[in-house]
Amino acid sequence: MEQNILKQVFATDVFNDAVMQERLPKNVYASFMKIVENGGELDITIANVIAHAMKEWAVERGATHYSHWFQPMTGITAEKHDSFLNASSKSRAILEFSGKELIKGEPDASSFPSGGLRATFEARGYTAWDITSPAFLREDAAGVTLCIPTAFCSYTGEALDKKTPLLRSMEAINKHAVNTMHLFGYDDVKKVECSVGPEQEYFLIDREKYLKRDDLIYSGRTLFGAMPPKGQELGDHYFGAIRENIASYMKELNIELWKLGILAKTQHNEVAPAQHELAPIYCTANIATDHNQLIMETMKKVARRHGLECLLHEKPFAGVNGSGKHDNWSLITDTGINILDPGKEPHKNLLFLYVLSAIIKAVNEYAPLLRLSASNVGNDHRLGADEAPPAIISIFLGEQLEDIVEQIINTGEATSSIRGERMNTGVTTLPNFRKDATDRNRTSPFAFTGNKFEFRMVASSMSISDANTVLNSIVADTLEKMNSSLEGLTGDDFTKAVKEIIHKTLTENKNIIFNGNGYSEEWVEEAEKLGLPNIKTMVDATAYYTAPSTIEMFARQNVYSEEELQSREEINYEIYSKMIHIEALTMIEMASKLYIPASIRYCARLADSYNSIKKTGIGANISVQEELLVTACDLLSEAKDALKVLEEKTKKAEGREDGAELANYYKDEIRTAMDDLRSPIDKLEMIVDKRFWPVPTYGDLLFEV
Ligand code: ADP
Ligand code: MG
Repeated sequence: MEQNILKQVFATDVFNDAVMQERLPKNVYASFMKIVENGGELDITIANVIAHAMKEWAVERGATHYSHWFQPMTGITAEKHDSFLNASSKSRAILEFSGKELIKGEPDASSFPSGGLRATFEARGYTAWDITSPAFLREDAAGVTLCIPTAFCSYTGEALDKKTPLLRSMEAINKHAVNTMHLFGYDDVKKVECSVGPEQEYFLIDREKYLKRDDLIYSGRTLFGAMPPKGQELGDHYFGAIRENIASYMKELNIELWKLGILAKTQHNEVAPAQHELAPIYCTANIATDHNQLIMETMKKVARRHGLECLLHEKPFAGVNGSGKHDNWSLITDTGINILDPGKEPHKNLLFLYVLSAIIKAVNEYAPLLRLSASNVGNDHRLGADEAPPAIISIFLGEQLEDIVEQIINTGEATSSIRGERMNTGVTTLPNFRKDATDRNRTSPFAFTGNKFEFRMVASSMSISDANTVLNSIVADTLEKMNSSLEGLTGDDFTKAVKEIIHKTLTENKNIIFNGNGYSEEWVEEAEKLGLPNIKTMVDATAYYTAPSTIEMFARQNVYSEEELQSREEINYEIYSKMIHIEALTMIEMASKLYIPASIRYCARLADSYNSIKKTGIGANISVQEELLVTACDLLSEAKDALKVLEEKTKKAEGREDGAELANYYKDEIRTAMDDLRSPIDKLEMIVDKRFWPVPTYGDLLFEV
């Protein structure tokens, strides 16, 4: 028996390539792999054989049910379970799973958001097996379920999910990046895949305390709360030693993820107290997306087993660093070349410089779309709030590449590459090594990090699907345009044309390259002068779904139809209004039933003290009680007024039709009213006797885990 837990459990719950090789007849395996690699339709006879093998494998491991697992536009995953029972199972259980059941499902789609793509009377929606993402077993209190990753489409073929557009975008980038490789003489390249490694940040808090906070339960974040005396200013949590209860959580989390074949690799404490991060090893975009969903789900599930609650919200605590996801992205050929690897002498690597120029141009032209792909309600509290990346998209290249870009812009060509110097620590026993050519930059939303780009705006609770769909599509589209001017050229003509395109593209798009501090005030002003958009909120970003340039680009790349974009725009507005509505109602309830009554009780206590001391007639100094009472009563009345305004404004919104107008109302009117209510209550928290305070405070939540 294998002693090492990693070796023992890794991928035991995945119907992956190794299991298929072992369990499928050779010819079936071969035809299946051919379709996985080259696309095409799966023959039903082959599907039947695979379904049978899958069922046998799952049942041996205790599975009673199977489920098509999909990612509707809510951004989380959905599933419907069916048992393996066959219709003729009367006196004994006959277990069956057919090819048809494997490749196609038909959940009633009417209750998923469709943004007008499908009226409720046309409820049909289909889930279709994504053969490139392996099936897996989910084990929990419900027993063992065979989960089949699927795409989710309407009766008429429109994408109702986040996976279908991602798969389409992967085909687009594959097509044009393969063409690029061929133009550059790499004729053996048949496929280019985008590789993605998402780093996931999260908070862990005590579950008992979590359950005492309606705001955390209903909205995932605290809607009230004064800052504790200590925050993250000492920097003592970042990379700090991991406490034992957290370590034991991480251990179990890793095991659960390893079982699912997820390459959980790095874990550490993050900047904020109670904040942590997990990073898997990168893999193909759609699998990375599925895995990230599973990581988030498993994080929450395992936390509960440990008496903890995992918060994935982008900003659970105002004033404390929020959580994001760093989407590391690169392009790798089936022959093993990472196209984003600059090599030792990047100035000589024309292919790299060509693709780099394409990415810079794509990001510059479609910055609002990238911003949109990272937008959700929670991220509005984070982007641009001097911690996470700013809301302005710029690109960080690092010293080495920036120098090369400058040479090209100034002289049409680069003739040298800065090299990393030898590391000098002044200690002879420490290893002597060559440093990277470039230091890191933490403030850039889109940073080159050695052999990949890192898109750092992505929201922690959100699927990474949108971000990668946009990245793939805009780079595919730009490559297609650039490639077309190289078609048919050879030898020196080709090289000359490539150099010209690189020169022209970099010159035209240099405004987006920024190596400085993205958090500074000056940058905001500078960016405005450079013409870089500063899109502050999700509502402002949402309109870009249907900008003519967006519709045309996605149509050219066959990623979204105009209707699909319209539906996503509608859903975004709807989700925004609904979520802020829930937050407003939660605040109203907490203020009226908890904070105001508690503060009144405290005021009564102060008044009692004041009166009873006064009654003694000894002339003692009762100015403290008096002062506190006046302050508390003033704050109470401020809170009551603000509560009334919020109630009225929220009422006004009820029953109004969803859309841009309503979303803007929530953004401008309701959010301001929410801030106005929070302010006096947070001040009350600072003076009211802690024994009267009805909920755990920031200090309790962040430092007593
Ligand atoms: P950081 O120092 O940025 O926190 P980490 O090592 O924590 O770095 O995370 C980097 C992430 O980038 C990991 O998920 C890693 O697998 C991923 N990654 C590394 N190389 C590539 C690549 N070529 N393409 C995509 N992702 C990559
Ligand atoms: Mg990183």
